[in-house]
Amino acid sequence: MSKMPYVSAFKLGIKPDPLMSVAEWSDNKRILPSKSSAEPGRWRTSRTPYLKEIMEALSPQSPVQEVKVIKATQLGFTELANNAILCYMDLYPCPIQMIMPTEKLASKHSKAKLTPSIKSIPSVMRKVKDAKTKDDAGGSFEKEFDGGMFSLGWSNSAASFASFSARLVILDDVERFPEDVEGEGSPVDLGRNRADAFPNRKIYINSTPKNKNGVIDREYQDSDQREYYMPCPHCGEMITFDFNEDDLHFVFEYDEENYELLSDVRYKCEHCEGLIEEYQKTQMMSEEEGAKWIANNPGHHHRGYKLNSFYAPLGWVSWVHIVREYLKAKKAEINGDTSLMRRIYNTRFALPFEEKFESTSSDDFMLLRNEIVPGVVPNDTAALVMAIDVQLDHFWYKVVALQYGASKHTVRYGRAESWAELEEIMRTHYSGENGSIYAVTMAAVDSGFKKDEVYEFCAMNSDVAVPIKGASGKPDSPWKVSNVERDINGETIKTGLKLYVIDTEYFKDMLYAQIERSILLKKEGKTGENTFSMHSQTDAFYAKQMTSEHKHCDINQKTGAQKWTWIKNTSKADNHYWDDGVYTTFLGELLGIRFLQRESIVKKKQKNRPKRVRNSEHDDYMSNF
Ligand SMILES: [Zn+2]
Repeated sequence: MSKMPYVSAFKLGIKPDPLMSVAEWSDNKRILPSKSSAEPGRWRTSRTPYLKEIMEALSPQSPVQEVKVIKATQLGFTELANNAILCYMDLYPCPIQMIMPTEKLASKHSKAKLTPSIKSIPSVMRKVKDAKTKDDAGGSFEKEFDGGMFSLGWSNSAASFASFSARLVILDDVERFPEDVEGEGSPVDLGRNRADAFPNRKIYINSTPKNKNGVIDREYQDSDQREYYMPCPHCGEMITFDFNEDDLHFVFEYDEENYELLSDVRYKCEHCEGLIEEYQKTQMMSEEEGAKWIANNPGHHHRGYKLNSFYAPLGWVSWVHIVREYLKAKKAEINGDTSLMRRIYNTRFALPFEEKFESTSSDDFMLLRNEIVPGVVPNDTAALVMAIDVQLDHFWYKVVALQYGASKHTVRYGRAESWAELEEIMRTHYSGENGSIYAVTMAAVDSGFKKDEVYEFCAMNSDVAVPIKGASGKPDSPWKVSNVERDINGETIKTGLKLYVIDTEYFKDMLYAQIERSILLKKEGKTGENTFSMHSQTDAFYAKQMTSEHKHCDINQKTGAQKWTWIKNTSKADNHYWDDGVYTTFLGELLGIRFLQRESIVKKKQKNRPKRVRNSEHDDYMSNF
């Protein structure tokens, strides 16, 4: 009885699945439409050999139920999902659902990719109802075909997940899904549940990553974690194209001033140190040469695949292009802007991005002392400011020179015992390196504690002193101004005093970036604008306070959402000078120091140069920010 299962199934009228995988079907039938494809025409799996095994795992012949892909952009994964949809429509009709982040993306995908693809494959087009009469081949979001139904939904609408059960579920670009869809839970879980009724289900989840422990990072962790290994053309050992900044295997030269790439990019084999040219990857990646996916977490019942842009076929994005992007991001990162680096980590390296906010070491911080003696104002100073941290019976103050080019120099700092002492420090005339005399133009006094005394001090010194306060929650602007009112005999009186409510997280980020950048420049023996320095007698006590906090990340274990906040390294750490640093950073922004021009430069240029030239030099000067 058991020897002829095929025949008995046949007698029951059950048609067995044709033994064709999604990859084989694609090589036989798939045509890439000319309108929306970089390489229109016949699909060839050999062009992107790393996609073959993934397509096989998505095929009915494979027992795998869940396939998760963490990937860079432009590697062919969008078409891979289309191959699966079209193959099932053609050979294995069943309910199919695809979920994209938004309606707009879904509509675009249907119009530009899926519908033209259906029309280009006669056997599929014959099966889709109304494909010939209707311009959009059966509707953008729902396509009925012989034996099945395809539905295209979007992640931010609960309706997309209601009442449709599917054997093949595709969740595309899940990092752009919302954490929760209209109070019904995670759209990834809702999508996955669509296939519960099917024992032969296929769930395909893919995305470029975002943050560590984000949605796709966690899905990949919950899989057998495969990477694509290829034989080294020199020694034959199996290697991957890894991008690890701390242990870089890509070899290239660049100009350390401007971060311009000066050479070709090669890959150094970790086993034999042989250099691999980019053109060699075509052969290395082919199955015939022995390239294959290898699991780092073997035995897990979900498949996971990770692939970066360095695997892109020749003629797509090149190594030189990626490294140029990386160097550009590196330059921006050194200037305190990590957004480009985040983008390249996610979309090129297929790596989650982790902001690096370790606390600065106080030894490193001490490198920022310079030759200028305490109390002396450096050349190039645009304004002298002061910050005051108020305690129960004493104060911590700091006098800072804000320089052209947005640099800061700590002229003087210390502890004061009384308001009178503070007033004296604030009203002192400070002499400059060049003999000029400077007065404090603005002093920020923290009013979080002993508010009334602070207001009184500021009112009596209203030409210089302003009360400030840290904002609570997440403010929508770096600072806000409000009017100070007082209750006198039950009446609310406007005092005329302005209170600045500041986003301390914002200014801490800014100050931290400036300090880190200054240390880096110092270690490399370079100078630059937008740096931090302090006088020659600065002590370890000051350094300890200035490095007393780090940025901490709280991760919501359920959603993977990240929340970053500055916290003290130890609960008892004193951070008064760090707070003063934050206030002077705010004053620098309030006074617009970043945008001030050196008067002498303007004057000189007006005398000697035509207007057009002056403007272009000004642009160069400003581009340093
Ligand atoms: Zn080798």
